[in-house]
Amino acid sequence: MNKVKSLYIHVPFCHKICDYCDFTKLQYFRNFAVKYLDALEEELKAYQIKDLKTIYVGGGTPTALEDDLFEELLKIIDPYVNGVEEYTFEANPESLSLDKIKMLKSHGVNRVSIGVQTTDDKILNMVNRDHTFEQVKTAIKSLKETGIDNINVDLILGLPHSSETILRKDLENILSLNIKHISCYGLTVNPHTVLFNKGYKEPEGDLLRAFYDTVEEELTKNGFVHYEVSNWAKPGYQSEHNLTYWRNEEYFGCGLGASGYIGETRYKNTVNLSQYIDRVFVNEKELVSEKDKRTYQIMLNLRTIEGLDISFVKDKQEEIDSLISSGLLIKKDHKLIPTYEGMMVLDQILLKLI
Ligand code: SF4
Repeated sequence: MNKVKSLYIHVPFCHKICDYCDFTKLQYFRNFAVKYLDALEEELKAYQIKDLKTIYVGGGTPTALEDDLFEELLKIIDPYVNGVEEYTFEANPESLSLDKIKMLKSHGVNRVSIGVQTTDDKILNMVNRDHTFEQVKTAIKSLKETGIDNINVDLILGLPHSSETILRKDLENILSLNIKHISCYGLTVNPHTVLFNKGYKEPEGDLLRAFYDTVEEELTKNGFVHYEVSNWAKPGYQSEHNLTYWRNEEYFGCGLGASGYIGETRYKNTVNLSQYIDRVFVNEKELVSEKDKRTYQIMLNLRTIEGLDISFVKDKQEEIDSLISSGLLIKKDHKLIPTYEGMMVLDQILLKLI
């Protein structure tokens, strides 16, 4: 029986490259996108994909594709959609037109994740984002009117010129949109990004922690559950697809630079577009030993409030007791669950348990 219930598809194209971006992405050119979709269709067909529960189409910017190619992408995915419970598309506000929203709806997409990052138009412009908060509002209104109300918004904590005041305004603006899910990631400044070359530094630990404390306070006060280090959801709206990763379950990964986990193998696809178009998909493979599997289990399970089955760390009783008495973990039945404090210092917990 096929145990793999989740599929990730990467669409690497963007119209404009953001200053902080370290994802696998390329400038959009129609002729590349046409060839890319052909290769993607072939890659998908090569796996025995059936009976999925979740599909997640990320990027890059899937909505960067022109309408006819966007529809073609949806048609390429159609054969795998039957029975899927959560089908997510990532989108950028400026390219999430009403026509695209209608296409998403008619092909069964029931969740949309929008890259908002901040609601401050000046900062958006400074980091080369191509949208305004007004466009976010319009896109979310259109999604809801079309019947897609399971919506996530991504925010970045610590963008250049951000502050506590701006973050509070961001949260107020986002909460006014009445959405189901919010992801907040601390800014990372990776080499080869424009921000790095400009000498910009990531927010220091204390500042980032203060930002997280504000997010936690505002979102939990407004009925969101902090269910994963960087993710808050209204009850019943956790990302089922992302929970696949955090439960250490298997998933197919297709598209440029995508990662997957099937059977005993974790793999990563090439990030080279020419290779990908030439049908050389997988670039790295890692055979997961029992020991590695346990390590992944601990690292990933402890990110969420579903927690880790204590049987994976039964040789670490002393460390567990100390983590519980320091308020970083709680024990509930046979599970170890991180507290908010524990999520904020997850690396320290992992150092003790792995
Ligand atoms: S839209 Fe996303 S993937 Fe594209 S450049 Fe910006 S951050 Fe990177």
